[in-house]
Amino acid sequence: MIQLRNITKSFGSLQVLRGIDLDINQGEVVSIVGPSGAGKTTLLQIMGTLDQPDTGQIIIDGQDVSKLSRKKLAQFRNQRIGFVFQFHQLLPEFTALENIMIPAFIGGIGRKEAQRRATELLEFMKLTDRADHKPSELSGGEKQRVAVARALVNHPAVVLADEPSGSLDSQNKDELHRLFFDLRDRLKQTFVIVTHDESLASMTDRTIHMVDGCLTSDESSESLLSKKDATTMNSPSPSFNTNSIQDEKQ
Ligand code: ADP
Ligand code: MG
Repeated sequence: MIQLRNITKSFGSLQVLRGIDLDINQGEVVSIVGPSGAGKTTLLQIMGTLDQPDTGQIIIDGQDVSKLSRKKLAQFRNQRIGFVFQFHQLLPEFTALENIMIPAFIGGIGRKEAQRRATELLEFMKLTDRADHKPSELSGGEKQRVAVARALVNHPAVVLADEPSGSLDSQNKDELHRLFFDLRDRLKQTFVIVTHDESLASMTDRTIHMVDGCLTSDESSESLLSKKDATTMNSPSPSFNTNSIQDEKQ
């Protein structure tokens, strides 16, 4: 799904990424952990094609992204990559529903279909009654769930999340984390999540440790199956049928 080969990046004389090699498979929830300044955000931005490496190759969903023109790259990012940031970054003058629809509009999806997808996602996020509220009228947890819905509206190959629960209290944190695994289980959605949260990192399929621009270890969960079972058991029962999203993905 994602292949990174020998990615390096410097800002002036500061070398931030020192030759990163990484493969991420479809349906994996991968966490990246490490001290502040290790280069995690830089790596995620490069993975998301928001920034360019100095050297190395990035292949996402079979596409070598360096081969795309600026315009094609913007299209590719809109279609194939979803982003969730620490602070929701929703547009304040638009409602929750509209915020979710915007990437679909940018991708050329018609109003009716964009609204159908956004409504379905809001239902999945248990936010139907918040559809017409603006971000300032939503709680922190609600805003972050809207941000996740927005990341999903174009059925991306991967969702990249940078400290997504960093600004949430523990209950909202747990709810958001459960949502990631729920989406993985139902839609085979791939996630790469930079986090300081140890409980989230311990739940993910793989935890990648990053120190000083290098990946120092890559632990696959030894008991992946039992963890998956645990997250499935904890998940709320399905509130809607995700088949339509699944069908369109194929
Ligand atoms: P992390 O997310 O692990 O805390 P970052 O990737 O944000 O680390 O930053 C890694 C290092 O690169 C830090 O020393 C940071 O100050 C520096 N850095 C990040 N972005 C820039 C930039 N645009 N210009 C200069 N230095 C940067
Ligand atoms: Mg960071």
